[in-house]
Amino acid sequence: MRQELEKFASEGSLVILIDRKGRQYLIRLDSANIFHSHKGTLPHTNIIGVREGTRVATSEGMEFLVISPTYEEYALKMPRKATIIYPKDIGHIIVYGDIFPGATVLEAGVGSGALTLMLLRAVGPHGKVISYEIREEAAESAWKNIHNFVPDITDQWSLTIGDITTQPLPLERIVDRIILDLPEPWEVIPTALDALVDGGIFLAYVPTTLQVQQVVEALQKTDVFGMISTFEVMHRNWDVSPNSVRPNHRMVAHTGFITTARKLQPGAEFPRTRKKSQY
Ligand code: SAH
Repeated sequence: MRQELEKFASEGSLVILIDRKGRQYLIRLDSANIFHSHKGTLPHTNIIGVREGTRVATSEGMEFLVISPTYEEYALKMPRKATIIYPKDIGHIIVYGDIFPGATVLEAGVGSGALTLMLLRAVGPHGKVISYEIREEAAESAWKNIHNFVPDITDQWSLTIGDITTQPLPLERIVDRIILDLPEPWEVIPTALDALVDGGIFLAYVPTTLQVQQVVEALQKTDVFGMISTFEVMHRNWDVSPNSVRPNHRMVAHTGFITTARKLQPGAEFPRTRKKSQY
């Protein structure tokens, strides 16, 4: 606990400044720097050393709350080179992709690294995340975003620039989970077949129903992938005040669909039968 207190708002640490209207500013504390708001300046030295959850004021009296960024706050604030997977979907990917401490996870594409960050957290220091990204620019941005949030990442993470469908992957039966966020996940199925352990999970995140159908049909054709399931996640915020408790007017209506499948022994899955109610 004492250590936590000392670590917060020290030279070099990341903090979020939140103004009265809820606007958030992510900054790294540097005693030589000054934060400029539209109402005055705030030298970082006035922030360094404060307790978490303190209010600080600029030279013109504009107040900001100082807090350390959570994963969600950081992921939504970090620079993006591609659309990120939203925290609401990432939560479900971790649970339904069953990412556990010590797991070996193969991931593509990396984009801005929002999902990678949470995968790294979920596998923990004894796990491994093996990531592929086809675009150099995106890989560089993800590398920066990830090292900015978790500077002590070492051989827990490997990032290869290249097309996951054509890369030779020396990964026979050592990968516990494959998590894909790229336009044609069905092209990764041959790789997944070799790389995944028995019982391993293949998970694809795609934005359109056409892609869902294509990936599910491709999984079914293999005779090895079974227990296939597709879902989407709806998350609605609520406004709670003394006179009214109701859903917020706005919500993120659509992001993507999540499809999961397990690697089984060839032909082991029971034949698909339709329930009476489906006729
Ligand atoms: N999951 C990421 C966003 C990924 S966006 C996040 O949460 O931040 C999709 C990424 O997949 C893009 O950056 C794209 O360049 C990459 N991509 C597309 N096809 C690929 C392939 N065949 N191999 C590796 N990366 C690929």
